[in-house]
Amino acid sequence: MPECDFCRFVDSEFKVFEDAKVVAVLSQSPANPGHVIVVPKEHFTILEQVPDFVAGHLFAVANRISTAMFEALRSTGTNVIVENGVSAGQRIPHFSINIIPRMENDGLGFAWPPVKLSEDDFSNAEFQLKEASKDVGGFEKEKPSAINADKKEELLAPDEDDYLVRQLRRIP
Ligand SMILES: [Zn+2]
Repeated sequence: MPECDFCRFVDSEFKVFEDAKVVAVLSQSPANPGHVIVVPKEHFTILEQVPDFVAGHLFAVANRISTAMFEALRSTGTNVIVENGVSAGQRIPHFSINIIPRMENDGLGFAWPPVKLSEDDFSNAEFQLKEASKDVGGFEKEKPSAINADKKEELLAPDEDDYLVRQLRRIP
């Protein structure tokens, strides 16, 4: 038996969905009935360690489970929550996405009280983040070559289609 609680999800009796990369399990300490936790089968501690194609897949599955909550549980909303790192409230060192079905007036609250920032604090954060985010879009160039034949449809977003079309047009 693995030590990690979320690695053990593969053997859970409360699975609602499973494929090669991810497993979705009913939370045993739910915020609401139907609260589901989606995890990668491979052990990654935080989001930064999760490869893009797994992260994309995890969020796509989370989106579909959220949709299932609207349909099957008649939820009128869902919270999709990631606690990324200990200071963000993460208790189990295995990346996970919580999907919590919501009803009007269900008494749950995830709202934070806004803090009053000085102009300096705001613009420092803005400057640092903009600097560090300059190359965020760089991965898009790599995607088409990273697509496996069997994963092609799954990973192609509409604008990547355009990218492929543009690349093909360049070929004489
Ligand atoms: Zn684990």
